[in-house]
Amino acid sequence: MLCPRLLVCASRYRARRGHSPYLVRMPRLPFALLIVLSVASCRSQSISEFGDTVRDADIRCLAAEPDMTIASPFGPRRTDELLTKVRANLVALERLFEVEVPATLAVHFRALEMPGIEMQLSEDGQSYDVSGMEAPSHHGVLGYSTRRRGAPEVTIYVVPTGTLAHPDGREITVSFDFGTELTIRHELAHVCAMLADLNGPTWFDEGVALELEYSEWNEAGELVRRPVPVTLRVAHRRRADATLDEVLAWKEDFGAVYTGDEQPFLLGRPLAHALMRFLLQRDERAFPASGESLRARLLRIRALEDDELRALEPEWLAWLTDLPLE
Ligand SMILES: [Zn+2]
Repeated sequence: MLCPRLLVCASRYRARRGHSPYLVRMPRLPFALLIVLSVASCRSQSISEFGDTVRDADIRCLAAEPDMTIASPFGPRRTDELLTKVRANLVALERLFEVEVPATLAVHFRALEMPGIEMQLSEDGQSYDVSGMEAPSHHGVLGYSTRRRGAPEVTIYVVPTGTLAHPDGREITVSFDFGTELTIRHELAHVCAMLADLNGPTWFDEGVALELEYSEWNEAGELVRRPVPVTLRVAHRRRADATLDEVLAWKEDFGAVYTGDEQPFLLGRPLAHALMRFLLQRDERAFPASGESLRARLLRIRALEDDELRALEPEWLAWLTDLPLE
């Protein structure tokens, strides 16, 4: 059984442009209005207006907002909660990357195809064992971002609400969260990095997105660095299992991973995050001015040649070995 946290930290993929056959286009609507579509009852009028989005059998709610469009498999209340999360993260990330994401942004929440959920009362009757979550249909992919005809699009996989049969005959509605906000933040970070002209090799792109994904909110509503998130713990533990050269050469065919035809480089993400964090801290020591923006630091890091990075390998490994885990 896959641990959901491992799934979150080790198995998130970014699409190449227009790569996934699962991506649907969400046209911008000419008005700002929350629209709840019951596909079954509105089919004759709405399908042509909203294009392929509502043909997706998952979709129950489409929110056309002034700043983005969101489609989700949940009802209006849950969709509104997701919209709030997207918006809060978007505002914080736009500030950090010094960009403005266009209102053509489309965020599509799609239901994971789950194999079914089972719940059993433990022998002592004090707890429940929940199982059956180990086989999402697309090999660990929790979200991806892309751009279609210039408009940024983000797809986030969510766990559909399930029903558990309790031994006493009751049916209990259950919802699971695989860390949806982290996936939202990760994919929006890719979008913002793209708009800030900060794309680079895979280790760089994923290192940036993971650094933001594992940031945390401070009391002022800003995203700030989390000292040692799970990715860095994994990188610390597994630092001898892959070389810097492997991290620098990392390439990923999203489509092949999605279909299961290619095994992902599972250590790629933790080690890319560790390399990015190390380089950011190194840059902060070299350019300590408080006015230095994240974008400026990332531009300097992206400009480093592979040979310069290789020369830093001993220093990076020493840093990784000495990470304060407590
Ligand atoms: Zn990513």
